[in-house]
Amino acid sequence: MKLVITLTLSLMLMTSQAFAKVNVFACEPEWQALVQAIGGEHVKTYSATTAYQDPHHIEARPSLIAKTRRADLLVCTGAELEIGWLPLLLRKSGNSDVQESELGYFLAASQVERIEVPVEFDRSQGDVHASGNPHVSWDPYRLQSIAQALSKRLQAIDPDNSQSYQAKLSKFNQKWTASIKRWESMTAQLAGKKVIVYHKNWSYLLKWLGVEVIGDLEPKPGLPPTSKHLSHLLSVTRGNTPDSILIANYQDDKGAKWLSGKTDTPVIRLPYTVGGSDKATDLFALYDEVLSLLVKGNE
Ligand SMILES: [Zn+2]
Repeated sequence: MKLVITLTLSLMLMTSQAFAKVNVFACEPEWQALVQAIGGEHVKTYSATTAYQDPHHIEARPSLIAKTRRADLLVCTGAELEIGWLPLLLRKSGNSDVQESELGYFLAASQVERIEVPVEFDRSQGDVHASGNPHVSWDPYRLQSIAQALSKRLQAIDPDNSQSYQAKLSKFNQKWTASIKRWESMTAQLAGKKVIVYHKNWSYLLKWLGVEVIGDLEPKPGLPPTSKHLSHLLSVTRGNTPDSILIANYQDDKGAKWLSGKTDTPVIRLPYTVGGSDKATDLFALYDEVLSLLVKGNE
């Protein structure tokens, strides 16, 4: 009888282990989407922010602390994007698995080289990009490197399912590489276009597409447009006409509309991340939608 109970117990334990999913806390929806693509049925994901929030400025709410406490893996942008709230979540969570330098701590921007690293930096000026531009998800090649690193990390945390993580990564890579080819041909006409942006959200994307940024509605990354800065931008556009003004659809469009009215330049509203529009249900669909909106809006 005792043997039967022991067997039943160990079977139950094995079953629960086999079904235990890696609990992933993503800071932003793009990383949640990537974890889902690479982790599939072996992960359970949660995103701390939605596509309609500005991830630079989030409150470290008790519900987020509770989620951090239960996480096996934290996947965030890094490069100080979440500096206003992530350190607090980590400290208050008391979860030793996801602290900096642990296996359960994964920053996407640390996996790749960053652009726009400031030579001189003054936080008192409101600058939120102390470690270079953190918006790395908008370079499809960097995203691929991040996917690779993420797959390795999942394999290290959950070695029983290594093969599955590897297989899902190669499936993702295959589709992503084919998509890059398609995206590059559909956007070829964008090279040489000139845009005004609102925040340096799109720097990687525009660099990839060969689009020139001639102005930023923000006087400094993280600071809202001022009337002084807007009139400066207006003078910049005289003699250097932009093709469009880009804003992410979580941003206030007042400044963009003002400049658009003065310069007769169209404003293109883009979903910044997965979930930012009805169509943008995963990373592929997000890239598809943003790129086709850019092509249409800059014709
Ligand atoms: Zn930023």
